[in-house]
Amino acid sequence: MNIERPSGLEEGLEALAASPEATLLAGGTDLMVEINYHARRPEHVIALRRVKELKEWDGRRLGAGVTFRRIEQGPIRALAQLARTVGSPQIRAAGTIGGNLGTASPAGDSHPFLAACDAHIELQSRRGTRTLRWDEFLVGVKRTSRQDDELITAVVLPEALPRRQEFAKVGVRSAMVIATVSACVMVDDEGQARVALGAVGPTVLRARRAEEMINSESEKSDAALAEFARLVSEEVKPITDHRSTEEYRRHAAGVLSRRLFERCLRT
Ligand SMILES: Cc1cc2nc3c(=O)[nH]c(=O)nc-3n(C[C@H](O)[C@H](O)[C@H](O)COP(=O)(O)OP(=O)(O)OC[C@H]3O[C@@H](n4cnc5c(N)ncnc54)[C@H](O)[C@@H]3O)c2cc1C
Repeated sequence: MNIERPSGLEEGLEALAASPEATLLAGGTDLMVEINYHARRPEHVIALRRVKELKEWDGRRLGAGVTFRRIEQGPIRALAQLARTVGSPQIRAAGTIGGNLGTASPAGDSHPFLAACDAHIELQSRRGTRTLRWDEFLVGVKRTSRQDDELITAVVLPEALPRRQEFAKVGVRSAMVIATVSACVMVDDEGQARVALGAVGPTVLRARRAEEMINSESEKSDAALAEFARLVSEEVKPITDHRSTEEYRRHAAGVLSRRLFERCLRT
């Protein structure tokens, strides 16, 4: 196996332009599992750990190489909440937000936050830079619109993030668990809510009808909240698999979204 270790972004982009078939390695917490289980046998690896530009976190621009360990200590409430639920301390020390996007698992824990705030994903290659909205980037189960010669370089957050924001996930255990359902709810200063859900569709999704309904209600009565939860349950697109059933996921998506929304209202 040929392993390249570029020490800067330019060098990394050059290496990838020369070998677009190469496999990118960040923290390795997804990739090494696949290699260990013989699901992948890369001939050529470009290891990104020395690329310092990817580790920069400057306000709303979060480098792809920022680890969940740093994110959990960061100032953004729901982002820190979700980071705390990723794997174990060892996984969070190595695992990066760029890797979470690169894997594009429907259960990726960073995705509901990124969808709720309408984040963009920055991609760079020797051909230039492009920025895609989360739903232009995540296009299917483990599928993204990244071209082979592109690096995910950063997540770009909107200028103003709603102050009220909550993330939580449901799983078969309370720690070290892949989400059965995950959700992020944000409520802005005008009281407008956004709801994003993970692990209940091929990609993370926004419950737009539920958002529209609750945003049109001036009184968040019990009946309105119940209808909000019902609409979320209806809008998600879960499957039954080894982790859970479609029915349970629909139910949990509604309950979790309502709970997070109520928490936002209390803060
Ligand atoms: C025990 C365990 C527990 C876990 N728990 C969770 C959990 O609770 N929640 C969760 O969401 N995930 C979890 N994961 C999955 C994993 O930790 C995360 O998805 C993590 O964010 C992957 O980041 P990484 O840097 O390790 O990526 P890597 O494994 O290095 O790479 C993952 C993929 O992304 C690509 N890639 C990496 N960086 C870039 C880049 N800059 N540009 C383009 N492509 C890139 C790689 O080529 C690869 O295909 C767990 C994994 C393990 C082993």
